[in-house]
Amino acid sequence: MDLGIKGKRALVCASSKGLGRGCAEALAEAGVDLVMNARGAEALEAAAQEIRDRHGVKVVTVACDVTTEAGQQQLIDAAQGVDILVTNAGGPPPGLWTDWNRDDFIKALDANMLAPIALMKALMPGMIERGWGRVVNITSQSVKSPIPQLGLSNSARAGLTGYVAGTSRQVAPHGVTINNLLPGIHDTDRAASLDGGVSKKEGISVESARAQREASIPARRYGTAAEFGATCAFMCSQHAGFMVGQNVLLDGGVGNQTL
Ligand code: NAP
Repeated sequence: MDLGIKGKRALVCASSKGLGRGCAEALAEAGVDLVMNARGAEALEAAAQEIRDRHGVKVVTVACDVTTEAGQQQLIDAAQGVDILVTNAGGPPPGLWTDWNRDDFIKALDANMLAPIALMKALMPGMIERGWGRVVNITSQSVKSPIPQLGLSNSARAGLTGYVAGTSRQVAPHGVTINNLLPGIHDTDRAASLDGGVSKKEGISVESARAQREASIPARRYGTAAEFGATCAFMCSQHAGFMVGQNVLLDGGVGNQTL
């Protein structure tokens, strides 16, 4: 399917690896020029070069921390005039409700709620002026089925979800859509580190920890970054112009819900 976005330009945050990288790859395959970001400059430049070589699109890299104001400003400067924004960052650490103080919450809100909001606020006016834009925020399955030990993530992502629900309706008349893409367990470094944690805690091999988790997913496997990226690229395509303020869940059937 021709996604109809060849020649457009996108900022994809936190994209040297994992789900962000999957989104960058799929957009590049559709002919979209990229601004890519991560903190580690070396892995970021290597990922960018692979994408340039494979898809022949222009890729600019900005090595910075998207959760800081200074990082956001660097990204906004490099991404002036983009048509597509994909927001992403690492997730907050797990724990117990008794573990977290105000500073922990502020950090989580900065990373997973206020950073995407700052980027939307800076980059959507240009999209509105040009009458076309797409925003996809990478959030989590925990928005629909909160995970008890991820209280910081549950809180911050719920805040972003509420913001998107209202704001998406305000920008839709101008041809700009905002939607959220909710990953369940995907085969990235993050999933591997979660398996490593279970392996240590339960005294089983990493392979057994993964097999246990796969058995709990109706699709009986982890999702791939390529599948995730393809869905993101579709949500950024011409065909998705009528999708507004949605929370699109990719979890292999884990969440047993109808909405
Ligand atoms: P990942 O494989 O660990 O990749 C994270 C990517 O983001 C890397 O390129 C990393 O590069 C970059 N990054 C991390 N923190 C950053 C920051 N502060 N500023 C700029 N770049 C940053 O992670 P992932 O699995 O793709 O997860 C992406 C998001 O989806 C996370 O918020 C995670 O909580 C959420 N999620 C993932 C899953 C899953 O199963 N994978 C499930 C639910 C939710 P640098 O380290 O060099 O910065």
